[in-house]
This record gives sequence, C-alpha cells and structure tokens, in this order.
Amino acid sequence: MGLRKILTDKDPALHKVCKPVTAFDKKLHHLLDDMAETMQDANGVGLAAPQVGILRRVVTVDLGDEILELVNPTLVETDGEQIGAEGCLSVPGRYGLVKRPYYAKVRAQDRYGDWFEVEGEELIGRCFCHELDHLDGIVYTEVMERFLTEEELMADED
Ligand code: ZN
Repeated sequence: MGLRKILTDKDPALHKVCKPVTAFDKKLHHLLDDMAETMQDANGVGLAAPQVGILRRVVTVDLGDEILELVNPTLVETDGEQIGAEGCLSVPGRYGLVKRPYYAKVRAQDRYGDWFEVEGEELIGRCFCHELDHLDGIVYTEVMERFLTEEELMADED
C-alpha cells in the first residue's frame, strides 16, 4: 500500500496504448488500492494506470461517496455534448477547453473479473471519457480546443 508517483505528460508512458488486464490477482488489487490512495491524495476525480507508469487498462474514479474501480473498461454508449474546462493530474496547473459527451456508459470488470456497467453524466461522464482516453495513450491536450487563459481561470473561481 502506498502513494505512487504521478507522471507528467512528458513521460512516454502517457502516450502508449495499454494492455488488457488478464490476472485478477493480488498485484492488481495492490495497484487499485495504491491508485485510489494516490488519486485522493492529489485531489483528483480520476486516475488511469499509465499515469503511475503501469501500462494496463485500469482506472479509478472518485464518485464522492465511493471509489469506482474500472478494469478493462470500454465506452458502450454516449449521448449529448458538453464543452468545459478539463484538467489532468499529469498536466499540473493547466486547464483546457474540451468537448465531451454529456452522458457516457462504461462496461468494465471489477477487481475480481466480474463484468458490470456504470453510467455517468456531466463531470462523471467527462471523467470516464478522459480516463479511458489515457488507456489509449491520449492526453486531453491532444483533443482539446485550446488551453484556458489565466483570466478565464480566475473568472471561473468567482
Ligand atoms: Zn488525466
């Protein structure tokens, strides 16, 4: 158990396609526990395994009242559209304007290998799309419209 180092988008690990998880063992559980701890410590909404240097299809999402663990997740349905500010623990201090679906449904396995589906809207829908992109080596800065300016960020905080 412990905090893992969060890599920045300068690291090649953030730009590689991750492999599926095939072993639902102690090593995976250890990774999931560490990712949840690391994400919460950094006040992140989501974290993908490549951000801690592990090139496997694993994501954690902080739903507020619980931590969602997504192993081998895929987007099975999206609907609507939202354009808003998006940040990433691997791109510290900066925010971009990113267009995402408003609604996203994800199919994934839990830490024991059982399949389930989960839906999200607004921030959580955005988060699902952002984190799943990480598993394909895509950082939001590659799909954003543009970075937000200091002035825009200050206005957002009011
Ligand atoms: Zn990210």
